Amino acid sequence: MHYSEETRATLLEKIQAAMSEKRFQHVLGVEKAALFLAETYGASKEKASVAALTHDYAKERSDEEFKQTIRDYGYDSDLLHWNNAIWHGLLGAELVKQELGITDESILQAIRLHTTGAAQMTLLDKIIYVADYIEPGRDIPGVEKARAIAREDLDEAVAYETKHTLAHLIDIEAPVYPKTIETYNRWVAKKEEI
Ligand code: GDP
Ligand code: FE
Ligand code: FE
Repeated sequence: MHYSEETRATLLEKIQAAMSEKRFQHVLGVEKAALFLAETYGASKEKASVAALTHDYAKERSDEEFKQTIRDYGYDSDLLHWNNAIWHGLLGAELVKQELGITDESILQAIRLHTTGAAQMTLLDKIIYVADYIEPGRDIPGVEKARAIAREDLDEAVAYETKHTLAHLIDIEAPVYPKTIETYNRWVAKKEEI
């Protein structure tokens, strides 16, 4: 993969145009955290950068556009009954591919899984999942603990984040996407087979 400063600058322009300044700053923070984790755990920094910069690319699309994407790409119609939280990564990966021309499957998968995680996650998937949670601009309760764990053990950071996200969803009585439960079973309850 050829990734020059120029490639990154072009990508940055498109991403900045797709979102609010606040979200753009979040994305830059996720890139920073992802580069640190890639360095620490030995992943490709180029892939970590591209996946971090694009992970929330579609977050500001309307519900109608997501519903149209579900129909256009033939996703299961059950997905129509979810919401932006679930759509922006899963369907966002498709929009990143179509609109930004990013075809690297490992990057697209990290985008797809960044909100829910999954039972099976690659190093890059874990890096983006965790970087999104610990980026410097986040001030969610427990984020300092999450940052400390992420410096020591990436799998434990996946578990910590999953547990706290699920606890939060239950607290506010939000619907829990099945993949989030699969992530919990594998990484928090450490269930061997699902
Ligand atoms: P962001 O896009 O940078 O804000 O972060 P994420 O993509 O990780 O999360 C977006 C939102 O989805 C957050 O408010 C999470 O709490 C929420 N979320 C994560 N998992 C689930 C789930 O299984 N169900 C629902 N309803 N929301 C979820
Ligand atoms: Fe997101
Ligand atoms: Fe994010």
